[in-house]
Amino acid sequence: MSTLAPIQLWQIPTSSAAEQAQIQPLIQALHEDLRAWANDFERITQANSLAVEDMVITDAIARLGLNIDVFVLDTGKLHSETLAYLDTISQRYPNVAIRRFYPQDSSLAHFAAQHDFSDIYQSLEARKACCYARKIEPLQRALAHYEAWITGQRREQAATRTQLAVEEFDEAHQLHKFNPLAAWTQQQIWAYIQHYDLPINPLYQQGIPSIGCDPCTKAIRRDEDLRAGRWWWENQDSKECGLHAN
Ligand code: SF4
Repeated sequence: MSTLAPIQLWQIPTSSAAEQAQIQPLIQALHEDLRAWANDFERITQANSLAVEDMVITDAIARLGLNIDVFVLDTGKLHSETLAYLDTISQRYPNVAIRRFYPQDSSLAHFAAQHDFSDIYQSLEARKACCYARKIEPLQRALAHYEAWITGQRREQAATRTQLAVEEFDEAHQLHKFNPLAAWTQQQIWAYIQHYDLPINPLYQQGIPSIGCDPCTKAIRRDEDLRAGRWWWENQDSKECGLHAN
């Protein structure tokens, strides 16, 4: 009788001292970009999803003491681990004001009037309506009154991000938008995290390399695409929540 091989979940990449040394030019470039943007824009903010990419940026902002705000969208559906981690990083960076934005009661009521929550697994329209109420509308409030925002998106994360530019204009929000880690690899991100010994979201230790809402995120195998655990029941092409749709 044949036995099934155990599933090998994705694991956190480890970096050598040499790899950590090799990212120093990237860190220098990141610092130069952040300093320049903080200098050019009086009102600039960073979206932090509590993923490692965003922590690299928040850490650099704190390290440089830049006048760049940071916000988190608390969708009401985040994992308990992510919420605990948010408290951890708030304590780690007392010089960074991390603002939280929540869905509006009226938006949630509007969604509930039209859908059961479980509809998100059957209907793309329902899933996008949930993302609108819990992410996109709060994002609009988070970005109001700013001139520019910074994200941790990377080109290799998804088929939808292969053309990502470091600097772009966000037509949807009429803001400058910066993606300073666009060209960074997953290995380089983890080299930064390990070089500075940053705390990480505990979900990474559970085989989840892409952080999202609890009902829409699951662990992946080692051989899967990094975002395969996000909205895993949908086609690759539709797997964005709309936060970064220009
Ligand atoms: S990711 Fe899932 S739970 Fe979160 S807002 Fe979108 S549909 Fe809703």
